[in-house]
Amino acid sequence: MKHPKEEITYVMVKPDGVRKGLIGEVIKRFEQHDLKIVALEMFQPSHDQLNDHYPKDEAWITRLGEKTKSTYEKYGYDMLADFGTTDTSKIGPEIRKWLVEYMKSAPLVKIIVQGVHAVDIVRKLAGDTLPYRATVGTIRGDFSIDSPALANKEKRAVMNIIHCSETPEEAEHEIKHWFGKSPIYNYKRFGVDE
Ligand code: GDP
Repeated sequence: MKHPKEEITYVMVKPDGVRKGLIGEVIKRFEQHDLKIVALEMFQPSHDQLNDHYPKDEAWITRLGEKTKSTYEKYGYDMLADFGTTDTSKIGPEIRKWLVEYMKSAPLVKIIVQGVHAVDIVRKLAGDTLPYRATVGTIRGDFSIDSPALANKEKRAVMNIIHCSETPEEAEHEIKHWFGKSPIYNYKRFGVDE
C-alpha cells in the first residue's frame, strides 16, 4: 500500500492553455495547494499518440455523444441539422475526432503531479469539464467560458485549458502512455514533506 502522499496524477495543458499563456498559472495553482510537480515536459503529440490516449470503447464514445445530445436538448438546438443524425453512437466518434484535431493544434505540456488525493484535488482545482459552468476560482472557471453549445456549432472540442485523469487507474495508464520510461523525480517539498 502506497503512502497517501505518493498518489500521482496526470495533467496536460491543452492547446488553448498553452496559447493563452497559462502554463505557469496552472502549475502555480497545483503548487499552491501543496501538490508537487514530479515530472514536466513540453512536446508536440502525434496523431497516433492522441488517438491512443482517448478511450476507444463503445461506452466512452457513446457517453460523449449523449453529453452532446443533452446540450442540444437543453438549448433547443437542432441536432439533426448539425450532425445529420440523433444517434449518440454516431455523434460520439465525431466529437472524438474533433478532440484529437484540437489536441494536435499546438504543443502540449505534460505534467505528473504528486500529493495526498492528487487525482481528486487536481480535478477540483480544474473545475467542471464544461467551462461555462465551472465555478469561479477553478482553472477552467477562471480562464474559459467555452460551452458545448458553441463548440458543437463550430464543430470542435470544448476548450477547457487542461486535461486531468479521472481516477488513479486512469492516471497510471496515462502516465505510462505519455511518459513511458522517462523519470519521475523524487524530492522533499519544504512544508509538505518535512
Ligand atoms: P474531462 O475528463 O473533464 O476532460 O471530460 P470528458 O472525458 O468527459 O471529455 C473529454 C473532452 O471532450 C473534454 O475535456 C472536452 O474537451 C471535450 N468535450 C466534452 N464534452 C463535449 C461536448 O459535449 N461537446 C464538445 N464539442 N466537446 C466536448
